[in-house]
Amino acid sequence: MFANVALPVPGLEPLTYRFPAETPLAPGMRVLVPLGRRAVIGFVTSLSEKLPAPLRETKAILRVLDPEPALTADLLRLGRWIADYYRCAWGEALTAMVPAFTPAPAEEWCARLEETGAKLPNRGLALTIWQRLEAGPLPRRELLANLPASASQALSNLRRRGLIASERREAGFKADPIAVSSQGTARENLTLTADQARTEETLSLAIAAGGHAAFLLHGVTGSGKTEVYLRAIAKVLQAGKGAIVLVPEIAQTPQTKDRILARFGGLAAVLHSALPPKLRAQEWRRIRHGQARVVLGPRSAVFAPVKNLGLIVVDEEHEPAYKQEDVPRYHARDVAAVRCQAEKALLLLGSATPSVESFANAQRGRTRLLTLPTRVDGKTLPEVRLVDMTREVDPVARVPLFSQALLTAVAERLANREQCILFLNRRGFATIVRCPQCGHILTCPDCSVSLVYHRWDDRLHCHSCSRMYPARPACPRCGSACVRLGGSGTQRVEDEIQRLFPAARLLRLDQDAIQRRGSLEETLRQFGQGEADILVGTQMVAKGIDFPNVTLVGIIAADTALHLPDFRAEERTFQLLVQVAGRAGRGGRPGLVLAQTYNPEHVVLDLARTHDYQAFFNRELEHRRDLEYPPFSRLAAIICRHRQPEPAWKTAQTAAQRLERALSAGDALLGPAPAVHERIAGESRFQILLKSRTHTGRAKVLGALSGLKPPGGVRLTVDVDPLNML
Ligand code: ADP
Ligand code: ZN
Ligand code: ZN
Repeated sequence: MFANVALPVPGLEPLTYRFPAETPLAPGMRVLVPLGRRAVIGFVTSLSEKLPAPLRETKAILRVLDPEPALTADLLRLGRWIADYYRCAWGEALTAMVPAFTPAPAEEWCARLEETGAKLPNRGLALTIWQRLEAGPLPRRELLANLPASASQALSNLRRRGLIASERREAGFKADPIAVSSQGTARENLTLTADQARTEETLSLAIAAGGHAAFLLHGVTGSGKTEVYLRAIAKVLQAGKGAIVLVPEIAQTPQTKDRILARFGGLAAVLHSALPPKLRAQEWRRIRHGQARVVLGPRSAVFAPVKNLGLIVVDEEHEPAYKQEDVPRYHARDVAAVRCQAEKALLLLGSATPSVESFANAQRGRTRLLTLPTRVDGKTLPEVRLVDMTREVDPVARVPLFSQALLTAVAERLANREQCILFLNRRGFATIVRCPQCGHILTCPDCSVSLVYHRWDDRLHCHSCSRMYPARPACPRCGSACVRLGGSGTQRVEDEIQRLFPAARLLRLDQDAIQRRGSLEETLRQFGQGEADILVGTQMVAKGIDFPNVTLVGIIAADTALHLPDFRAEERTFQLLVQVAGRAGRGGRPGLVLAQTYNPEHVVLDLARTHDYQAFFNRELEHRRDLEYPPFSRLAAIICRHRQPEPAWKTAQTAAQRLERALSAGDALLGPAPAVHERIAGESRFQILLKSRTHTGRAKVLGALSGLKPPGGVRLTVDVDPLNML
């Protein structure tokens, strides 16, 4: 027998290997095969009895790794789509779809009841055995424990009559319900708001109808979207199907996790990205065997082998975290859409600030728009005020971190025992180090990105390659002895606030704080229980957290993302402001948001101030139309990298020439040009951007790159639908 095996090797189509006919092998199983001098793990994609035509001999499979397929036929096909769309090898796509291979645990034979309608035993050992199995399958050993020796004969009789079947199971496996968090309360009987009820009704009808349908749920922050997801999942389960819920980052949405576990208990599986490979593999098997039917996880959970898939929810669908920045460079939302279509399931995207692409799809009728325009319980959206920082600049030319308005508001909350969140967008080049003499900004020589000062180890860090530098170097441009440390990172915000309000209890939430103090969940829990008055943080505090006692959100620099060299800069700014603002006033008292800015006149900030998504969308769509950006075009970024600029540049030029020749009407090529971050981790990077009207047009142009062999050491990557123009 012969098997076609997809290997995780760039540019490689499946190869054929032979195996003995008695080996139980099926498509979707992993096998170890020889490739050159290496042994590589690949996926069986199909079997054949004869060797395909041009081949006369072939190597043998070294070892079969899975006792049963790791991927279903549907998922194999989804992998093929990913490989074709995102331009990678089928084997690369498949490898990304399952947890890393860990040897399957020992198995044992279990007996289980078979529904046959045959006459049931009504007495004796047969009845005892039957009753023991009613609660679920049991290993033979346990089934016959404490029974007389003749029980073995009784079991054989039952099996012969077809009343009991046996199957292989993971040894020692217990379908133990996950500990249900005490925080979550299963509020099944909560009365839906009129808007929620209308939405639920629509979804229920679609679930009852079966088949594929796609929805975009646009609901303001605190409008009860999560409750709608939970109801839809419950309906899907009732229909005997399973569901997947995608979130940008599990650790950042502990409340969603708690609510899902509280409601679905042991039927739920959580694919935490920090789960050790063994546990991940075990959860995976629980899903594949149908023991877990609701899966919560980050982007890779879109591949969960849920049996009889009925629904995929993509929460906060606008989040860039759904895009994988590594091969395969897939976008989980878009993969979810394809998977739902193929498996006749419902797709439910949700967001308070949908991506322009998704909202445009809804407007064009490709997805159905559902809206929750108000917060539950008649709570109002927080009032957002823009604070003009240009007026705060004091005569000594020291730019203050906080406006008077913000300090007054913080003092009021502290006096009233209410909580505040102070938010700072680190990505806006905030903690840069500047020479006081010549104004030079210190950058990493390897990456050309600004260095960031960190107080805990008193060093400068490159956030791109992780290199560290001494904190007080001489200025590389003018030689001035000591450049000024400072800027305004979260640490400085924390320090200054503590200095100004010595009695306030502070917590900080950013990547460094987590690395040093441990859990993000723990910090959020402490804040939620009122163990601190002020939470200082980066975008981590912007996500789906729900703290009723927070009445003030201070945005230290609302415009930092506005000047990023990316056509989505304004969209990101709008989304971030609305999301952060959404953390305020979720309890009984109204919330206030103070957004400090140096561009108080900017339209996008003003639209965020009034929470006017529709107006923002209309304006943004016009821009995109004028500049032919998505959704009016399909993009691909071609990046060439090498330690030396010269070879990378040459390859980029060759690639550009090939692409140029393949262009047709409606396609455009930008570059090659140095990437925004010209050097990352000691590599020079050049970028070409391809814009095409259609997906097929783009695929045709990109086809011109196949067979291009970059000279030694140059890496050429294609990013289809790139998200970050860096
Ligand atoms: P979103 O996901 O839209 O931000 P959530 O689903 O988190 O909103 O809901 C916000 C809060 O309102 C949560 O504490 C939730 O339990 C509560 N909630 C949701 N629906 C209702 C309802 N119909 N009645 C009362 N409270 C609700
Ligand atoms: Zn660096
Ligand atoms: Zn200088």
